[in-house]
Amino acid sequence: MRQTERYRQFIDYFTTHFPEPETELTYANPYELIVAVVLSAQCTDKRVNLVTPALLAQFPTPAHLAAASAEEVFPFIRSVSYPNNKAKHLAGLGRMLVDDFGGEVPATIEELQRLPGVGRKTANVVVSVVHNQPAMAVDTHVFRVSHRLGLVPKTATTPLAVEKALVRQIPEELIPKAHHWLILHGRYVCVARQPKCGSCPLTGWCKYYAEVVSKELLVPPKKVIKTTLKSGKAPK
Ligand code: SF4
Repeated sequence: MRQTERYRQFIDYFTTHFPEPETELTYANPYELIVAVVLSAQCTDKRVNLVTPALLAQFPTPAHLAAASAEEVFPFIRSVSYPNNKAKHLAGLGRMLVDDFGGEVPATIEELQRLPGVGRKTANVVVSVVHNQPAMAVDTHVFRVSHRLGLVPKTATTPLAVEKALVRQIPEELIPKAHHWLILHGRYVCVARQPKCGSCPLTGWCKYYAEVVSKELLVPPKKVIKTTLKSGKAPK
């Protein structure tokens, strides 16, 4: 299957079935989102959502966080992964937001990446979710699913290479949505160890299914029914 057709199937299916995907992190403003995204590194959104209410009640603004030490932040986040490092990052992040950005979360990837605990992935999530900018944050789910579906070449072996490959092919206005589509599909269907191909609607054009799973199961991929975005029909 040509890659353009693969992207067409991807966009057609998800725009039809998940037209308005959203992050599963709970947040009310850009400050709360960046705190949640920093905490979500190597941790589940569910776990993060359990700790943020008390954390943000104690430190409701960047100024409150800026006035806190890592030791004061730690008890609120002790149940997430790497709490020591994240407590230091959050205290530093609060200080830099106040000292360098007037207490506001900056809107560019370059500025965001200056903040403690904020790498390219976190910066991309913030500009994508808050500002709807065409930034593709590549986490473990996006990386795995885009490879399995065959959306990116095998030579894309780093998150940055995957990001660039996806951004090249997906229409700008759909990039923030595509980020969520890939994450949610990876979280609930195309899971890491044992992808749930039996209940996946994408077997008809998934590269991994065609090359690996169908051969193991001796079940050929379903016939792909070609559709267009205009048709509004979902692939079977
Ligand atoms: S068919 Fe299987 S490998 Fe392919 S996207 Fe679906 S769950 Fe993942």
